[in-house]
Amino acid sequence: MSSRLFGRNQKDPVTDFRAKATFGVAVAAIIFMLPVGTYDLIRGESAVGFGSMAVVFILLANAWMAIRGHCHQNLTLYGLFPAGMIFMTSIFRMDGLIASFWCYPIVLAAYCMLSERRAWIANLTILVFALPMVWTTLDPAYALRVTTSLGAVSLFAAIMVNVIDNQRQQLQEQLILDPLTGLLNRLTFNDCMEQAVRLHDRYHQPVSLLAIDIDNFKLLNDTQGHAAGDRVLSMVGQLLRDTLRDEDTIFRMGGEEFTVVLKGANECAATETAERLRLAVAFANFQDICRITISIGVAELRTAESWENWAKRGDDSLYEAKHKGRNRVVLNRKKESGERKAVLLANAP
Ligand code: GH3
Ligand code: MG
Ligand code: MG
Repeated sequence: MSSRLFGRNQKDPVTDFRAKATFGVAVAAIIFMLPVGTYDLIRGESAVGFGSMAVVFILLANAWMAIRGHCHQNLTLYGLFPAGMIFMTSIFRMDGLIASFWCYPIVLAAYCMLSERRAWIANLTILVFALPMVWTTLDPAYALRVTTSLGAVSLFAAIMVNVIDNQRQQLQEQLILDPLTGLLNRLTFNDCMEQAVRLHDRYHQPVSLLAIDIDNFKLLNDTQGHAAGDRVLSMVGQLLRDTLRDEDTIFRMGGEEFTVVLKGANECAATETAERLRLAVAFANFQDICRITISIGVAELRTAESWENWAKRGDDSLYEAKHKGRNRVVLNRKKESGERKAVLLANAP
């Protein structure tokens, strides 16, 4: 599953989650740190005051970007955390015990605002940086307690974030994957098509689609049962995966219909691929189930064409393949010849 599937209109939920968490942490931290920093500046503790103000400033920048849906983790990792360390060092010089209290929210903030791997890096850095100061400024009895409690908070936060991240990823997969075939469902189809059109407009790379439909599937369901139909769907999904390249995007659009987006393929390459798919299904062994065939409509994206029109041309050719007797590939030509839009390419074996 990949965030590249999410276009301008649909946010990547992972980025969206981090942006929201970053905004929440930033607002909470500003509420707590602004009065503290102002108080330190008023009483002449300029190092601490400026340190906390720098943290507040970076948090404000973070919150602003989070509102706009962005989540710049590098600003947090390389800006906020070093500023937080400087702030902590200044307080350690003033009062070691009080400074150690600030380590805890900093550790937790890292897990809310950063990806898991970056949070680990930030946390190890914080511990490596703070613990020597704890041991040099505090009484050993206090230092031991701060070390163990800080280590425990860091570990618990890491475990909690790991569990939440895994669950979120599972939910995300459930949302966009079809449970029967493991292929993408149609939720991300529009975004994928929009992205393909954008890439084509920018880099003039050919891109084609295959509109695929299993032939006489209702009859199969009626004669051999719904469970047999499900098995065929799952096996056809696997055949599509095995026959196509990793960079091809395969969708189960619903029922017994699939769409494949072939990046970098012109209509000739796409037609060859479609023919390979058709033969792979026609000669596949579906165990106790009778022979299965598919019909395929092929269309290459035209210059300045909308994705909706492109998809419709694929569907038109699929219906033509059905009309002409099924188990065949029909190409909807990129350049219209005027006399004949769609060309029959392959007949039933
Ligand atoms: P054609 O060759 O013209 O495509 O005919 P067809 O019978 O394949 O097409 P039709 O649209 O008439 O029937 C599609 C059938 O697919 C009807 C529906 O019960 C079945 N179907 C849809 N989703 C599923 C599913 O998830 N599992 C199973 N087993 N059947 C499904
Ligand atoms: Mg069908
Ligand atoms: Mg159908």
